[in-house]
Amino acid sequence: MSSEPNLLEDVREQLCSCAMGLKLTPDIEAFLKIPMRELFVALPVHMDDGSIKLFRGFRVQYNEALGPTKGGVRFHPEETIESIRALAALMTWKCALHNLPLGGAKGGVICNPKELSHRELERISRAYIRGIYQIIGPERDIPAPDVYTNPQVMAWMMDEYSKLSGKNEFGAITGKPTSLGGSAGRYDATARGGWYAIKEAAEELGIGLKNSRVAVQGFGNVGYHAAYLAKKLFGCKVLALSDSKGGIYSEAGLDPEDVSGHKLSTGSVRDYPGAENITNENLLALDVDILIPAALENVINGNNAKKLQTRILAELANGPTAKSAENILFNKGIHVIPDILCNGGGVIVSYFEMVQNQYRLQWEEREVQILLEKKMKEAYHSVLDFSLKNKVNMRQAAYTLAVGRVVEAMQLRSWI
Ligand code: GLU
Repeated sequence: MSSEPNLLEDVREQLCSCAMGLKLTPDIEAFLKIPMRELFVALPVHMDDGSIKLFRGFRVQYNEALGPTKGGVRFHPEETIESIRALAALMTWKCALHNLPLGGAKGGVICNPKELSHRELERISRAYIRGIYQIIGPERDIPAPDVYTNPQVMAWMMDEYSKLSGKNEFGAITGKPTSLGGSAGRYDATARGGWYAIKEAAEELGIGLKNSRVAVQGFGNVGYHAAYLAKKLFGCKVLALSDSKGGIYSEAGLDPEDVSGHKLSTGSVRDYPGAENITNENLLALDVDILIPAALENVINGNNAKKLQTRILAELANGPTAKSAENILFNKGIHVIPDILCNGGGVIVSYFEMVQNQYRLQWEEREVQILLEKKMKEAYHSVLDFSLKNKVNMRQAAYTLAVGRVVEAMQLRSWI
């Protein structure tokens, strides 16, 4: 077995660790460790130079006991079926934890969007939907944005699905542009939801958010909005930011909007005037109150966990902390807001989008934010209470609550 962190193994182990408390039989535990359905697709795509290139994609529907499956689509050059499986499992626990009537899924296409033209990206997005058309739909499985996919990609996907079904099917995809049935407030929902949870955690720990020290790893949709809202909503000091090329640090605090302009013109946050260049590893080890990993999985692991100095670790990425880091963080007294709790804002507002599409409604942004805050607060306190009452860490508490709900639904449906 490799010593490299493996998200799928970690997710399965986490399940074992709460299986005892839930009194799961070995058969039920085994069922929960594998996806219910997986589809592999080969996508021949016409490239701009006239050639035809073959791309590979997957869709994993992990568990649908609680409702139609839900989860994003990642476009990434190093995508693997194993990581998609793990992420589909995380979606299942995430939807259950936040009491959404949805199961969990995830999809991916192995491709590098940074090397594709706009038209090539469109053809891949449409080909992917043609490939998985038979198993998705508003009552089956509803894709959404994830790493390197965005509202434009969702618009193409919704359009392709609608063409194939012969009618407008806005509810087949979420995370769409607002002019095409997307929900107000979906664009920053993951980051905003995360901050609603951080606010509760900060109160619990007696940390005043004004001028608190924040570092954010990742500067995609989630990372950017996490940094922007830190300053805008709570007056925090954003000391460090990073992207896949590296990071920047300023003791005086950074202006995320201005850094975004710099990234747009130079391709990276690096070399931002007045800031010091740092590595992604340096960023994780900074002396901050709140550390927000908002990029990819396994960035905090057994090798670097002991260097963390933060008081709150708010996991806006999916699976940023490997299992090998868990006890180290616990012993250091770091308050972890686990991914399935912290980053639930995205799928919560996706669910609101589905409801609006079904009834042809368009809610105001403020309405969406108020409902999102209520759901995040409820979920945060249910996890915290469970963790304190049962003397387990926040991740175990979140998993136990979530898996318990999925098991109950499977029992009520007589699947087990
Ligand atoms: N990709 C997001 C996540 O990992 C959102 C999924 C969705 O909206 O369905 O939670």
